Amino acid sequence: MSDERIIVVLLGPPGAGKGTQGALLAERSGIRHVSTGEIFRAAVGAGTPAGLRAEAYLESGELVPDGVVMQLVEEYLGNRCDLDLCFDGFPRTRRQAEALDAVLEQLGTKLAGVFLIEVSDEEALRRLTSRGRSDDGLETARYRLEVYHELTEPLVDYYRAQGVLREVGGEAGIDAVADV
Ligand code: AMP
Repeated sequence: MSDERIIVVLLGPPGAGKGTQGALLAERSGIRHVSTGEIFRAAVGAGTPAGLRAEAYLESGELVPDGVVMQLVEEYLGNRCDLDLCFDGFPRTRRQAEALDAVLEQLGTKLAGVFLIEVSDEEALRRLTSRGRSDDGLETARYRLEVYHELTEPLVDYYRAQGVLREVGGEAGIDAVADV
C-alpha cells in the first residue's frame, strides 16, 4: 500500500456480503470499515437525535435522507483525516456519490476504488431473511432490494464511467480489495 490515504467503497445489494468483506478487509489491512447502516443502528439503539430521525427509515427499509447521511459521513472524513476507510452501504444515491466526490476533492484525495459485490435477488433475499435483523422480514427485505435497484444500482455506471469500478465476487473479492 502507498503512503497516500486510501478510501474505498463497497457497492452491492443488501445481502451481497459487503459487511463480511468489509470486516475481513479491516482485520487484514487496517483499513477502517465504516458501515453507515451500523452507525445508524447504533444511533437508534442509543436514542441519539440522529437515531431518532433515522429510526422510521431503517424500520421501513427506506433510505435515510441524503442530508442526514452526508452530515454523518463528512464528520467521519473530517475528524479522522488520517485514516484509511472502507465505506460499506455508502454512497447509496447519485446525490451522495456526487457529494462524496466533492468532499474528497476538498480533502485533496479521491476514491482508490469501488468494489462491486453482486449477488442475485434470490440469493440476497435468502441471506437477508435468514439473518434476523428487524429490517430483514420478507417484505422489507424485498423493498430494500427494490430501493437498491432503483436508487443505488445506477452508481455502477457512475463509477464505471470514472474508471474506478472493480467487479469482485466471493472470497476472492477480499484479496482484490486488500490489494489496492
Ligand atoms: P445497511 O446496514 O447498509 O443494510 O443499512 C440499513 C439501513 O440504514 C438502510 O436500509 C437505510 O435505511 C439506512 N442507511 C444506511 N446507509 C445509508 C445510506 N448511505 N443512505 C441512506 N440510508 C442508509
